Amino acid sequence: MPTDTIQEPNQPQLDSFDKAFKELTRLKQTIAKYDYAYYAMDNPLVSDAEYDQLYQALLKIEKKHPEWVTNDSPSQRVGGQPIEHFKSLPHAAPMFSLSNAFSQDDLVEFDRKVLEKLSLDGATEYAAEPKIDGLAINIRYENGTLVLAATRGDGTIGEDVTHNIRTIRSVPLRLQGSGWPSVLEVRGEIFMSKSVFKRLNEQAVATGEKPFANPRNAAAGTLRQLDPSIAAQRQLSLFLYGWGEISSEHGLPKQYHKVIEQFKQWGLPTNADARVVIGAQGMSEYYDLLYAKRADLPYEIDGIVYKVDLISHHKTLGFTAKSPRWAIARKFPAEEVWTQLLDIEIQVGRTGALTPVARLTPVLVGGVMVANATLHNLDEIRRKDVRIGDTVVVRRAGDVIPEVVAPVLSKRGKTVRLFEMPKHCPECGSDAVKEHDKAVYRCSGGLFCPAQKKRAFQHFVSRKALDIQGLGNKLIDQLIEKNWVHHPDDLFRLLPEKLETLERMAKKSALKVCDAIQDAKQTTLPRFIYALGIPEVGEVTAKSLAHYFVTLDNIRQADVETLIEVPDVGGIVAENIVTFFKQPHNQEVVEGLLSVGLSWPTPVVHEMPSEQQSPFAGKVVVLTGALQLGSRTEAKQQLEALGAKITGSVSAKTDFVIAGEKAGSKRAKAEALGVRVLSEVEWIQMMGESNG
Ligand code: NAD
Repeated sequence: MPTDTIQEPNQPQLDSFDKAFKELTRLKQTIAKYDYAYYAMDNPLVSDAEYDQLYQALLKIEKKHPEWVTNDSPSQRVGGQPIEHFKSLPHAAPMFSLSNAFSQDDLVEFDRKVLEKLSLDGATEYAAEPKIDGLAINIRYENGTLVLAATRGDGTIGEDVTHNIRTIRSVPLRLQGSGWPSVLEVRGEIFMSKSVFKRLNEQAVATGEKPFANPRNAAAGTLRQLDPSIAAQRQLSLFLYGWGEISSEHGLPKQYHKVIEQFKQWGLPTNADARVVIGAQGMSEYYDLLYAKRADLPYEIDGIVYKVDLISHHKTLGFTAKSPRWAIARKFPAEEVWTQLLDIEIQVGRTGALTPVARLTPVLVGGVMVANATLHNLDEIRRKDVRIGDTVVVRRAGDVIPEVVAPVLSKRGKTVRLFEMPKHCPECGSDAVKEHDKAVYRCSGGLFCPAQKKRAFQHFVSRKALDIQGLGNKLIDQLIEKNWVHHPDDLFRLLPEKLETLERMAKKSALKVCDAIQDAKQTTLPRFIYALGIPEVGEVTAKSLAHYFVTLDNIRQADVETLIEVPDVGGIVAENIVTFFKQPHNQEVVEGLLSVGLSWPTPVVHEMPSEQQSPFAGKVVVLTGALQLGSRTEAKQQLEALGAKITGSVSAKTDFVIAGEKAGSKRAKAEALGVRVLSEVEWIQMMGESNG
């Protein structure tokens, strides 16, 4: 049992005993300070990950020394104090927190204890729900009418926020249907959806206000507004996951998930992603499922809550001072952590854009170690007010690249300094120029800048461009450094005898590289366009351009008005294309490439050979791999129009396999069976020949 006063450890004490006691005292004080800032002020002083670590450290010491647990320990208290300018509302039934699990082992242990306490063999059922990252609310209905709503506060006394809760559209002011108890308190999570949060922060930026750090903060700040019109504008949401006082449980279902279903029938909002799972194995499967879905959900979740489904078991299991023994929250790895911004360095991109990159004290975020994060551009750095030396919030959600979200102002020291863009390109010393009307700075060194030249070549030979195997970055670096190549067309004039003279380049490999270079001359129009490295012309745009214009000359001559008619091409991309082809040196590069023999088949989209002439008439064809010159549906239609039969699997009856990029097992099978395999280019050529 916790006591009101701390019992000093008896003398004589071991050193480690003394140390643990001191550490516990320090942890209690620190956590109390953080709780106040987080719960009462909505202004956290540390990241959740750091907080959770301290909290776990405290629990560990208390577990080892139960005699040191006092009533004022954070492990014995729920949440924070209510803030003063709201009316305090005592809760009819206390609002608890949840105990946490950080691994599957923790869940296995939880499940084991549940079964043991309930004296059950075999597995039991759990209701599993996404743990929404918002704040808890208690809403009281009397005779079906909403009368009060309060935050959790310290678990015993909350803040009266009825005026704001009434503005939430999904919260019924009157329950639907019938059969509800005369007093019904429902509990759930108030949150702000990702899209509303994004819009709110965009508005804040536009009006020069400070953006919110995350949706939870924004929801808490909104709920604690005295003026309900602000909450009404900001569009909070709610999911219900529990209940408080109920005048009579008579007639309510016996399983937790069914009670929640009943709430839904009364018009209360509940979460459609909730499931019933069986045992620790079921918990684990649901975890994997939601973890994969996390980034796509319209709201932030920070874990999963599992609750024993049979309500009669809740009574047997009971509560600790802080949380129910019949529920547990499995936390996801933190997506937002705090770390030190050591420096801001400039990276020169392939297109010459100078991008500021944050160098960070390496930190684990979203399960991955992060040491660098993009800062996009100077405007963004100023807008976020990020300074070198700051503690910063770093976020990595799903597969999105890590990002510096904001500085932690409460941690800003005196030694921080403002970042300035360099006046010259750090790679080649050319002037750095700010782009007209844009936040981007660019190196004006064009093809002279080694950063751009090397990257321009790397891009040119890359897999989605000319796909020249064996011409890796190191070899390109050497060729450029030796001044053997200035423009991409120089590559096609390289002789094996010259390559051979390079260090660690055997005769055979020199020959192989040269062969690969020569082979790449036969390419496709989309690959060629993509390979030129026109700013913002990616693989998809290159395909759209080729599809629309059919020939390179048409693209070269197109003006902005015509270009923007192409799907996927907007005004800026169109400008980039026109500007690119206007430059004499770019024209020279293109001409150079054509003169060394680069060529591609013209797609025969419009002129179809007739069925009788076609080598595909009556043949069984399998399409595999990623096609580059059109969609698979188009290819299928073209072939079918020529009388071919398209099938999904390769067998001895197959006549042709058309293999796009990354064709794998089907291609291998065809080769093994001696079925003829055609590349996309060969296939189009065959169609073209039969046409002519
Ligand atoms: P919690 O957030 O770990 O879990 C309990 C809360 O989960 C409930 O009160 C409820 O609001 C919410 N919840 C969401 N979905 C739920 C569902 N389906 N069923 C039940 N509850 C659900 O506990 P807490 O006491 O609210 O907060 C503790 C956590 O808050 C810490 O682990 C830490 O991450 C964070 N915190 C951070 C700081 C800081 O300084 N950064 C300070 C205090 C707390």
